[in-house]
Parts: sequence; C-alpha cells; structure tokens
Amino acid sequence: MSIKKGLLVSLGLVILCLVAGIVFLLQPSGQMSDFQKWQYQASEKSVSTSKLKVKFFGVSTLLFDDSKTQILIDGFFSRPSLSQVLFQKIQSQPEMIQRMIQQQHLQRTRAILVTHSHYDHALDIAELGKQLPNTKIIGSNSTLNIARGGAIPEQQLIQVQPLQPFTFGEFKVTAIPSQHTPPTAVNNDLGEEISQPLQQPSRFSEFKEGHSFDYLIEHQGHTVLVKASTGAIPDQLKNLNVNTLFLGIAQLSRQSTEFQQDYLDQTLKTLKPKVVVPIHWDDFFKPVDQPLEFLPYLADNTDKSLKILIQAAEQQKTQVVLLSQPVSYPLDPALQSQP
Ligand SMILES: [Zn+2]
Repeated sequence: MSIKKGLLVSLGLVILCLVAGIVFLLQPSGQMSDFQKWQYQASEKSVSTSKLKVKFFGVSTLLFDDSKTQILIDGFFSRPSLSQVLFQKIQSQPEMIQRMIQQQHLQRTRAILVTHSHYDHALDIAELGKQLPNTKIIGSNSTLNIARGGAIPEQQLIQVQPLQPFTFGEFKVTAIPSQHTPPTAVNNDLGEEISQPLQQPSRFSEFKEGHSFDYLIEHQGHTVLVKASTGAIPDQLKNLNVNTLFLGIAQLSRQSTEFQQDYLDQTLKTLKPKVVVPIHWDDFFKPVDQPLEFLPYLADNTDKSLKILIQAAEQQKTQVVLLSQPVSYPLDPALQSQP
C-alpha cells in the first residue's frame, strides 16, 4: 500500500470513528421501558374522583387543573430541534400554541409561572400570553422581557416577588428563590439578565438565565413544590411541608457524588414528600406530540440520574412516580398510595 493510500485509509477510519461517536452521543441515554415499575398508569376511576390533577409535557412544563382553574409552569411546547437550536434563530410556533390551547382548554389558565429564562422554559411565554390575554405571566424581570419582546401588555405581567403568595382561584402560589443546575459550556450565563425586550426569532444563547425560582403550589390542603433545575440554595426548603415534589434531575448523573448527595439532602430528604415526580429528564429537542424520550448521552445519562433519585426515594419510603406522557395524574393524597 502506498503512503498516500495508507493516509487516506487512516483518515477514513478517523472520520468513521467520529461519526460513530456523534451517533452514539445523540442516542437516548436509556429506555423508558426499563422503568415501567415507576410509570404512572392512568385509570379512569382515579382521574374522575380526584379534584386536583396535573399533566406533564416534558422539561418542567406542568399543567395543574382543578376543573375550574389551571396554573401552568413554564409552558414550553414548541421544542425546536437540536439543529434548529444550534444553527438557527429560534421562535415559538403560533399554530402549535393554538393547538395546545384548544386541546388542553388553556383558556382556563389564570397564570403561567416561569422557573427561569432559558429557552427550554420560557420560549413560548410571549405567544401564550398573546393568545391567552386573560392569563398572567409571572417570572423574573428577564423572563418578563421575553414576554415584552412579543408586545404583551404590562397589565398581564407580574414580576416575581420572592415568598409573597399570589392567589388564583383555589390555588395559592409562592415563588422561592432557587439555584440553577451547574453551568455547562452552552449555558454558562447563570445570573445574567435579559435587560431589554427580547424579540423572536433569537439565538438560544440570548435567553439568559436571569435567576431561578421554585414554585410552591397550595390547593385545598395539598401542597406541591416544583423545582425545575438540579441546584439548591442550602436550607431554603427546610420549613416546608410538601406532599408532592416535582424534582428536576437534568445532569444529576454528571455531577460529583458529593453534589448528588447534597442536592438530594436539600430537596428530597429535607422535604420527605409522599411522592416525588422526576422532571427535566426528557430530550427536549423532540416534538411535544411524540412520547417523551430520555436525554441523549450528549446531555446526560438519564438512566443513571433516575436510578440515583429512585434509590434515595426508596430509602425514605417516598413513592417515585414517572410521568412519561401528558395524562392527568391525580394529586389526591388518598389516591397516591394506589398508583
Ligand atoms: Zn436552564
């Protein structure tokens, strides 16, 4: 073999290895079918007898509904693909938002509570606000600047007042200052603000974090905490009494053992909820109308993150409930012992 031919063969092998590596990194980091034991199976009886229900749409988009009033966390439905996020400016899809409003009867949504301003939480708030003019948008000033970029009137916008409760129907909601997941190369912007109205389309990197919040939701004696990001302020949650914890686990597997233990100590072990529902584990580059898949290896090892959470929860007899599609899950303490 000539030197030239040898070099070409070597180059071909290197390219092949690179392609194989990229293909692997884009694969889902585990299978939902391996966690069937923890998956919620909807039964008509439990849904019809429970007053307060929740639906999970991936990342930390959660729709709480008591038949009269709805409260939406984040409301991220457009879910642009990975190539759109990397190579294009991104924007809400008005037809998709319209379809979600019709399918989920979102006209009853009184408030959208936004956890922080990254696009996988806040991309759709301006379009939702436009199509739902009676819905309040609650978030940091950065988050409200995303809504302002879509010309949402000021009277629809409420800047988060930490620890000051708001009431919407029978829901009492309180924002608790929180901590984002440790930064990575692509979101190293924690604490940075969006200081001007942000018009779409925009690059994903323009959706600066702008501070993170957990939301405590109280409804007729049932208390829920939604914690979107894998980060905690020490002792922030220690005096809360929470029945159901929606706990973000994105990139938990990528952190040190000390971080993992501390995160679970500050959240799950401090709160000792009856039920923990993992959130922010799905591949949010996939459309909302497809079954949720685990994050690709590129972003996390979801199989491992889930196992870390399940082990800690089972040690303290907290029930783990995995919601893998937007079905109504009843938030009634009496029903939670019979999944
Ligand atoms: Zn984020």
